[in-house]
Amino acid sequence: MSNLLKAFHSLKVKTFFAYLFIGIVPGIVLTGLFYNTVRSKSISGDVTSMSTQASLVADEIALNGYFQGENTDTIEKELSTVGNVFSGRVMIIDKTLTVVYDTYDMYAGRVMVWSKVLESANGSIASDYDTTNHTLTVTYPIYDANNNFAGVVLITESAEYIENNLNYYWSLCVLFLLVLTLIILAFSLFVSVKTAKPLNDIKTAIDNMSKGFGDSELRVKTTTETEAISESFNSFHAQMKLLDESRQEFVSNVSHELKTPLTSMKVLAESLIGMGDGVPVEMYQEFMTDIVGEVDRETKIVNDLLSLVKMDKTDVVLDITPLNMNELIELIMKRLKPIAEKQQIEMVLESFRPVTVEVDEVKITLAISNLIENGIKYNNPGGFVHVSLNADHMYCYIRIEDSGLGIPEESIDHIFERFYRADKSHSREIGGTGLGLAITKNAIQLHHGEIKVASTLGEGTTFDVRLPLNYIKEGQN
Ligand code: ADP
Repeated sequence: MSNLLKAFHSLKVKTFFAYLFIGIVPGIVLTGLFYNTVRSKSISGDVTSMSTQASLVADEIALNGYFQGENTDTIEKELSTVGNVFSGRVMIIDKTLTVVYDTYDMYAGRVMVWSKVLESANGSIASDYDTTNHTLTVTYPIYDANNNFAGVVLITESAEYIENNLNYYWSLCVLFLLVLTLIILAFSLFVSVKTAKPLNDIKTAIDNMSKGFGDSELRVKTTTETEAISESFNSFHAQMKLLDESRQEFVSNVSHELKTPLTSMKVLAESLIGMGDGVPVEMYQEFMTDIVGEVDRETKIVNDLLSLVKMDKTDVVLDITPLNMNELIELIMKRLKPIAEKQQIEMVLESFRPVTVEVDEVKITLAISNLIENGIKYNNPGGFVHVSLNADHMYCYIRIEDSGLGIPEESIDHIFERFYRADKSHSREIGGTGLGLAITKNAIQLHHGEIKVASTLGEGTTFDVRLPLNYIKEGQN
């Protein structure tokens, strides 16, 4: 965008021109109206006095038989006096529209078919203001004693003094407009600067904040609106800060988690190298098995991270299909059976009714697997994991109950956080990444479902999951 266009986009420039326009246009219109009123008033004033004079002349002509050739000298003398009074000209036109008398002696004998004369021949008083020759003319009809049309009196006066007057008023108007423009210019400038000031204040404060000067909070109290903007900005800024902190924490957690198996592998490999050639095969195999275990752990962390990141995106696309939940849970439990048997955990499924739910199979499988697997992992040999499935007309309810280690009270609120482990050493030993429940919660929330946990340390844990039977699209309630 060019600089000029950019300037016209500015609020300051826009308000400046808006006020200028609002102030000056009515000023010009009002001044124009005033000038026109003065002009028509002064012309109409003269037309009236000329018409009065013309009516006197018309009466005199009609009564004294001018057209019949009587009293011509006296009347013409008077006509010439009238002409002098108006510094102009008087013409008498008879009913055949022939000029019978002209104080200028130029038009006598000519036929006058001028529109104003014709108007008066039809009985009206007419007037004309000639701006080129600066003259004002009035025509007045003459009627004889029988009230028949007898002719027209035409009086022309020089309009110079009217124009002088009008010029004077015009200069006054121009002067007034100039002063008005100056006042409005100053006012518009003042108002536009004032209007843009709160926004400029906010910009400066934000600039200062981002450069690290001034407050860590936005506090622009110029107007109520800037105060409200400051508050909204501060809460947004606080959210961003929190997000940034959690991102930093997440990155440091990820680095730490990825580093641990690598360190173990390095130690194991270095020990093997350090032992030289005479390492017994059993020890060699034991160390290599440990290294493979660490590689598996690293792979699991990376896989869990990928699942989490995929579900964390704002535009996750779910592949929703109607799914028989009874069959899905049976399948998950079948897959986990070997681990359960190894730990000597009994797994029981209690289905109250056949349940079909619209879900993304992969994500919900991951969520339920994590919960059942945790029930097995954090359990004592000889313990149990009970899974129950029920539904009403709107929701599907899945309960996963175990007789395991339980979760300490202070940890309950944190178990869904990424990388959180209630019992760090034990959990690592068990092979957890601390991401399972975060993935589970994300998957359930993507389906607009709910997950709740209740646990007693040393007795066991129960997870309750609620999922809508029909998938709720975004924007639906
Ligand atoms: P992990 O991969 O460590 O299992 P999770 O996110 O699945 O991570 O769980 C987080 C923590 O919550 C676990 O480390 C464990 O301490 C606790 N936890 C989860 N499920 C159970 C359970 N059924 N019984 C006891 N503790 C549990």
